[in-house]
Amino acid sequence: MFKMFLIKYAEIAIKGKNRYLFEDALVEQIRHALKQVEGSFEVTKESGRVYVSCLSEYDFDEVVEALKRVFGIVGICPVVHIEDKGFENLADEVVRYMGQMYPGQKKSFKVMTRRIKKTYPMESMEVSAELGGRILDAFPELSVDVHEPQIVLHVEIRKTIYIYSETIPGPGGMPIGTNGKAMLLLSGGIDSPVAGYMIAKRGVKIDAVYFHAPPYTSERAKQKVVDLAKLVARYSGPIHLKVVNFTDIQLYIYDKCPHDELTIIMRRYMMRIAQSLAKEEGCLGLITGESIGQVASQTMQSLAVTNEVCTMPVYRPLIGFDKQEIVTIAEKIDTYETSILPFEDCCTIFVAKHPVTKPNLKSIQRSETKLTENIDALVQTAIETAETIVCE
Ligand code: ATP
Ligand code: MG
Repeated sequence: MFKMFLIKYAEIAIKGKNRYLFEDALVEQIRHALKQVEGSFEVTKESGRVYVSCLSEYDFDEVVEALKRVFGIVGICPVVHIEDKGFENLADEVVRYMGQMYPGQKKSFKVMTRRIKKTYPMESMEVSAELGGRILDAFPELSVDVHEPQIVLHVEIRKTIYIYSETIPGPGGMPIGTNGKAMLLLSGGIDSPVAGYMIAKRGVKIDAVYFHAPPYTSERAKQKVVDLAKLVARYSGPIHLKVVNFTDIQLYIYDKCPHDELTIIMRRYMMRIAQSLAKEEGCLGLITGESIGQVASQTMQSLAVTNEVCTMPVYRPLIGFDKQEIVTIAEKIDTYETSILPFEDCCTIFVAKHPVTKPNLKSIQRSETKLTENIDALVQTAIETAETIVCE
């Protein structure tokens, strides 16, 4: 019955010139999302509105699911779109609409008419009142309530006429492409995919980097990260995932530095490498899944020491979240099941039994001087040999 969707977005944040950027990005992201859905669709921008027209047969649920993953969309309204063939025709269409949408339901409603086409021969109040009467005649089980109706039937009279009454909530946020690009440190865990999702939701395009330590971490562990990147990409659009071979660096640190400092030193090298890849790719920040106190490497002291090597902003959207809150989002965005697959993580393999939880920056810097001989070359090689996988 629906051949069109009206896309609602939060307009408050987008005054003036930004509005065009926002709408254009939204249209582009909707087109991208619908490419993965069977059928032919047209996405148009018309007098401050975005519409999706369905030009062929399509699966309603599939289209709605795809649109629910497009950031910037606040509401998805399935619309019945008709030609203006006079009021009688409109009244027939409206009665038919109500009969199909709410058959036999004892609900309250009101009609809200917007007359954008000022040459329409009736005023909007008159249209609403008249349509309300026709609906009551056809469906005596319905009742009118102008203050708190269960159904608000919108009738918009433009060149053509739009009828809708349902709004399916969208994900909110801002369309990808409206806010630059950032580099996500993506591990196989629960947290980092959620962190990427949250920053993408603000309109930020995502690249990702994964530190791989073969043969200590398997091909399957790497595949799991690729799978997670693909799941996040359903929201963020294609992710260019850099897979960095971190083995030699880890072994070198293991060989030269105190074992209780391994994790923190490793994390400092991860940040340094991620930052250099981020600069190459034109990213404006790094993203991690860190949350204060979650593990030894995420105490305030550890975070401070890790952060000390970063000159680029590091976005940690989960910083104040409890694990359960993160899990809830992971479940919602469908990454949880993949994240809990039991594959080894490069950090856990070299982890000491008792890692420092309050690392001292001076002491860490002193330990790092023991790496002077080879570390620059190893880092350089790791960056140069990084493999890029496009995940979409
Ligand atoms: P996650 O659930 O995201 O793996 P975690 O609770 O395991 O996080 P850590 O292992 O301390 O926590 O990692 C903290 C953050 O560092 C991760 O959220 C991620 O952003 C980054 N990170 C950790 N390991 C890797 C890796 N092998 N490759 C890329 N990034 C990583
Ligand atoms: Mg992890």
